Amino acid sequence: MQESLFSVPPVKNEPVLSYISGSPEREKLIEALKCAKGYEADIPMIINGKEVRTDEKIMMNPPHERDHVLGYYHRGNESHVEDAINAALMAKKQWASVSWKQRASIFLKAAAMIAGPYRARINAATMLAQSKSAHQAEIDSACELADFLRFNVRYMTEIYTEQPNSDEINWNRLEQRELEGFVFALTPFNFTAIAGNLPSAPALMGNTVVWKPSNSQVYSAAIIMDIFMEAGLPEGVINLVFVSGPVAGKVIFSHPDFAGIHFTGSTGVFQNIWKEVGNNIHKYKSYPRIVGETGGKNFVLVHESSNPREVATALTRGAFEYQGQKCSAASRAYIPSNLWDQIWNDVKSDMDSIKMGSVEDLSNFVNAVIDEASFDKLEMFINNAKKDKNAKIIHGGNCDKSKGFFIEPTIILTKDPHYITMEEELFGPVLTIYVYDPKDFDEVIDLVDTTSIYALTGSIFSKDRYIIEKVLKRLNHAAGNFYINDKPTGAVVNMQPFGGARGSGTNDKAGSKLNLLRWVSPRTIKECLLPPKNYRYPFLEK
Ligand code: NAD
Repeated sequence: MQESLFSVPPVKNEPVLSYISGSPEREKLIEALKCAKGYEADIPMIINGKEVRTDEKIMMNPPHERDHVLGYYHRGNESHVEDAINAALMAKKQWASVSWKQRASIFLKAAAMIAGPYRARINAATMLAQSKSAHQAEIDSACELADFLRFNVRYMTEIYTEQPNSDEINWNRLEQRELEGFVFALTPFNFTAIAGNLPSAPALMGNTVVWKPSNSQVYSAAIIMDIFMEAGLPEGVINLVFVSGPVAGKVIFSHPDFAGIHFTGSTGVFQNIWKEVGNNIHKYKSYPRIVGETGGKNFVLVHESSNPREVATALTRGAFEYQGQKCSAASRAYIPSNLWDQIWNDVKSDMDSIKMGSVEDLSNFVNAVIDEASFDKLEMFINNAKKDKNAKIIHGGNCDKSKGFFIEPTIILTKDPHYITMEEELFGPVLTIYVYDPKDFDEVIDLVDTTSIYALTGSIFSKDRYIIEKVLKRLNHAAGNFYINDKPTGAVVNMQPFGGARGSGTNDKAGSKLNLLRWVSPRTIKECLLPPKNYRYPFLEK
């Protein structure tokens, strides 16, 4: 066998294409949208590399066009989850022992396919099934997914390269073993990139995986799986099942070979999962890795030294891009009364120019929210705000689900900094604003810190370096991703590793080496080159 210490190709972030009128990418995207709308997809589960169909077919519709049928997916049951676990365990030995170069090549090829020939298709699927604008789909399903796959390969080699010290007679080595058992990837609806990263990151490190995507993201998940398989992923390494969360959980969390969960989703679901894992802890062969990135109630703290126009842009983009359905979306803002008129003037003019509608009209900034449950929940909060004396809707507030799940971008002004929409994650296009007296800035810093259970993202707007420094220190634990004079959304792989603490998750930083370290179990090997031949130490001699 020939050996070499290979290096991997240089990595850079995938450039974001503009989709301006007349650009080739726009033409291709329009073609891909037309093509996807021209037929009804039939989406099977993929277990052990085989397509699995059932009698239960679930219809998929675009959130912004309820009466269009994108296709159907085949829903499974407990037996399919068991099959997926068995397939993962069967594939394990060969996959874990194949050279890392083979695993790297598969995911690098997948990244090249996503950035190249599959780009328009996966973006169109994300636009149609998750109601994302062309730009939002591009930064997610094309760029971020390609970045995750490419940078993870680099991080993997960095992890493998890190070795302990040795000396002339002892050679110390660290091996990064895959976890014993299988990993469960449980993914959310809102990012195609996260859906692709959660199963592929553990797989890259030598694990085999059962992947359950969100029901609302099956349409683009199927394309990711197509790409992985075409890139050469062997059967059984990632097994894609479409079952309800509790059905998957029931089988997986009581299985002795359950080795870890890679989760992104809501805080409540994650806390229940943690409890279930705890209740079953005596059944497992190893202590499972629990990695979960969860909800947020992200703040924008504005100081009187800030630039009002910059604040307004950050609020408009941060709160309303992708209908506020980013875990990092700005959803509570603290604005000094002496800047309020200017900031509101600018936000209002932004709001008046925003168009809402189908993703196929590229001039729409806002599209639909993901489903009826989300629509109903948001409508309830908005209607309650309309009746509450502590809240005033100063923009939007209209909700219409006749054609699609459209919630108008809504701004609530409140005099109560603990008003419910300042504290709870709504996950929609609703921003709540508290206007404060600038002389109370110090107390407002504490308010920001203590108002919600979350600590995902947050921003400070100020031109005053002393203020920025003070806020950074005082809000030390209030956000895992902290922004200075910027909106709190838009983290990029390898630039702003992403994740929060407190109720927002385990902060294992997707898009960094830290995350991959959770999917390996190191073994230390000490080899003695000159083993001692006498038990007696020199100090024992007279
Ligand atoms: P969700 O919690 O409803 O669903 C996530 C996944 O868990 C889905 O696959 C779902 O089917 C499954 N699930 C739901 N109930 C379950 C149960 N009882 N048992 C087992 N599985 C279950 O989240 P979502 O609506 O898809 O996504 C939105 C949430 O995700 C928001 O709270 C958002 O803040 C969060 N999020 C966080 C990050 C982050 O990095 N922190 C990123 C994206 C989304």
